[in-house]
Amino acid sequence: MKPVVRENAEQQENTNPLVNYQKLRQLEEKHGTSFYIMDASKLRRNYRKIERAFKSRYENFIIGYSYKTNYLPVLCKELSKAGAYAEVVSRLEYDLAVKIGEDPKRIIFNGPFKTQDDIEHALYHGSLLNIDSLYEIDVIKQYCLKNKKKQYKVGLRLNFDVSEDGRSALQEGYEKSRFGLCVQNGVLERTLDELAAIPNIEVAGLHGHFSTKSRSVHAYRQITQKLCRIAKEHITHTLEYIDIGGGIYGELPATFHRETPSFDDYAEAVCAIMNREFEFFEKKPNLILEPGISMVANTFVFFAKVMDVKKVADKKIVLVDGSIHHVKPTMHKNNLPMNIIRKSEQHEEGDETLFDVVGYTCMEKDYLADELKRPLPETGDYIMFENVGAYSIVFHPPFIKERPAIVAVDHETIFTARRKETFKEFFNEDLYVF
Ligand SMILES: *Cc1c(COP(=O)(O)O)cnc(C)c1O
Repeated sequence: MKPVVRENAEQQENTNPLVNYQKLRQLEEKHGTSFYIMDASKLRRNYRKIERAFKSRYENFIIGYSYKTNYLPVLCKELSKAGAYAEVVSRLEYDLAVKIGEDPKRIIFNGPFKTQDDIEHALYHGSLLNIDSLYEIDVIKQYCLKNKKKQYKVGLRLNFDVSEDGRSALQEGYEKSRFGLCVQNGVLERTLDELAAIPNIEVAGLHGHFSTKSRSVHAYRQITQKLCRIAKEHITHTLEYIDIGGGIYGELPATFHRETPSFDDYAEAVCAIMNREFEFFEKKPNLILEPGISMVANTFVFFAKVMDVKKVADKKIVLVDGSIHHVKPTMHKNNLPMNIIRKSEQHEEGDETLFDVVGYTCMEKDYLADELKRPLPETGDYIMFENVGAYSIVFHPPFIKERPAIVAVDHETIFTARRKETFKEFFNEDLYVF
């Protein structure tokens, strides 16, 4: 995610019922001086918005929620109840989906690494298995030969160029994606030939997930178009789904000051192609989207208490009980939207001061926010960081302190979705030798 304003003049109005000093004090009693809050109704709203955008244009639409983005069990369960399939990229995530009650037939198993047991397990339970590399074919072949009486299905993740203005559109400037079966050099055809030689397997779908820099509508047009053409050319008779992966923009906070495509913009482009390509198909294939960030980013906030306000030369530094890992694990330089919840209200009217917010780790670069310009916080205030639902709780290292609690809010109901970790859990005696 790129240029975000350094600081926002217009702080956003808060509708969260917990954002008041007394409520936060109560939560602190129970959970300590830092914690996340998940907004369950916002999560359901995101789901419905994405679903409505696509389903109103193409009926056979499925959302596969990308577990790795945030696999808090209650969050996954909420999305499953709303109707989402589980999109997983490891056996760990697969087993979590089963544990929260997901039907294995509604699990999409992606990713570059699957063991023999993973593959056999997914085939046996009828999950949607998307092959990423040739090594998986050998396992599938052996399994199908051993179980000749049953019919199995797989999908293929494809690798082709996604470009913008003639240049690669991939994140970090990569020329080629490392994922999937290459269309250009014949690996796809070889895979199709090998699978065709196995009597009891059919190719039911094609998958294309690309992390592009711009997340542009244009990229999704290319992906959808390419998948449809290849599907019609090679697997018309067995085609059940076109899976265009994830990576779309969600609704960004106003403070990001960026014009990004809406769910309707993406849906309009993708569904127009689906409707055109499959106009004469009696049974139209499913369209699968695998949103991660766009589904969960705005459903989490992180609260950290101010422990000290210190001066170094003329620089003002606000120390909180939290670290950059909790709010921006990718350590980007842009400030998130945030709010200060002050213990004394008069303080809100103080002079604007330039300050940084730093964390409890021993890394020099542990800045949760840079160069904010507001009335200086005081010890005991809370700072709320917004938009921290994606790649935060799954992607921060067990560094220096235990993991904080996650509190879920659903309208009037408040419950603990994850307790604060304890010493005993952190240094689990079943794992470590003392
Ligand atoms: C990570 C991932 C997603 C989700 O991507 P977002 O950018 O979070 O929407 C979807 N599908 C696959 C295969 C992924 O690896």
